[in-house]
Amino acid sequence: MVQRMFGTNGVRGVVNEDMNTDLALQMGKAIGKFFGGKVAIATDTRVSGDMIKSAVCAGLMAVGCNVRDLGIVPTPAIQYHVKTNDDIVGGVMITASHNPPKFNGIKCIDFDGTEMPREKEEKIEIIYSGNVECRSWNDIGTMETYGSAGEEYIDAVISHVDVEAIRKANLTAVVDCANGAAFRTTPLLMKKLGVRAITLNADPQGEFPGHPSEPTEDNLRDLISLTGSVKADLGVAHDGDADRAVFVARKGKKGVYMPGDKSLAIMSKTIVSDLGGDCTVVTPVSSSSMVEEVVKDAGGSVIYTAVGSPIVARRMMKEGSPFGGEENGGLIFADHQFCRDGAMTIAKMIEGIVKYGPLIDQMEALPVYYVDKRKIECPNNRKTDLIDYMKETFSEGNRVDTTDGLKILFDDGGWVLLRPSGTEPIFRIYSESKDENLSKERGAQFEKVASDYMEGL
Ligand code: MG
Repeated sequence: MVQRMFGTNGVRGVVNEDMNTDLALQMGKAIGKFFGGKVAIATDTRVSGDMIKSAVCAGLMAVGCNVRDLGIVPTPAIQYHVKTNDDIVGGVMITASHNPPKFNGIKCIDFDGTEMPREKEEKIEIIYSGNVECRSWNDIGTMETYGSAGEEYIDAVISHVDVEAIRKANLTAVVDCANGAAFRTTPLLMKKLGVRAITLNADPQGEFPGHPSEPTEDNLRDLISLTGSVKADLGVAHDGDADRAVFVARKGKKGVYMPGDKSLAIMSKTIVSDLGGDCTVVTPVSSSSMVEEVVKDAGGSVIYTAVGSPIVARRMMKEGSPFGGEENGGLIFADHQFCRDGAMTIAKMIEGIVKYGPLIDQMEALPVYYVDKRKIECPNNRKTDLIDYMKETFSEGNRVDTTDGLKILFDDGGWVLLRPSGTEPIFRIYSESKDENLSKERGAQFEKVASDYMEGL
């Protein structure tokens, strides 16, 4: 039996329970067999990082792979290293991203630095489920350490922005590194850009991540208030492995949290405007129409995909799109690399401030949409039935999109998305409209029709 190991974000679990050294060693062997060459490895700052990494490395070397240990760097930094070093055939990042500190995970990076596609993960799972043979004593792999991957990554990031213009602008930023993988690289980025940085939670020995782990408004109170009180031009926070960046604008002496759909919209607008229009932006069907509206206004168009950053990245490659991203602060810049990139997001946002004005003004200029979010329970084996029923009920006179779940688009620009959760027996209902009441009414209507159907009414 082939065991499914990889979830949407690699293999994750609670350390010394489901994520333990036996599993890490076996995974190391399976990943090594799959890659069959030199592999880069890195960790975030979790206390279990060295333990899990050591076990994975032992497995990699046992099957003959040479290992290059990059130490603690952000996920996009190891991705960049794998992409740009031809002797490296793949990578392994030890991280559980924004999950609480007791978790850790193993995430594979493909030869070109992208997140590994599902088909390749399945191949690793097949190897893992079998008996992985080790090499003889004199044919095992070796290990080297490499200390400059973080700096090389930051140098690549700043090559994509106008450093001179940024330096001249004399900006100040408050940076919350979540005591995570970006504790060194993001302050370095600020230094190289000539942005005065006030850091929070930038201590790798500090308690990870220094606040409850998901970078939400509630969890970033210190960042928000400090951004206001020091009158910074922006505040920014990373998740644990710094593939994402979340922003805080400032109005007078007050920091204003910027939800992910707004930073996605601002960045979409910036990139399309920089390129003079006539390009595409890729984003999942769950993203706010705010993105489409600003992209169209700037002369571009939007391509919608199913939810998931590897899906967005691969579609960008196929369509030749310069930019794509999701509402959780994970943004992808094609001219740098096809993966979510926290430092790149910050650099581009700062350049955007210099070019297009204060963040708060850019944020307030965005069109306003309201989203109503609900969920209903639905056993996994009835999910298809419910989708079919809802499609039948609501398709008449409306546009239907089945890219991911069921999206009903109304003539007035509003829409409702019914999306099955991949991990739980539930559906999520998102209803968006420019009219707040309408978004609520439609959300409630969908919830009622769906639950009546589930109860056999
Ligand atoms: Mg992350």
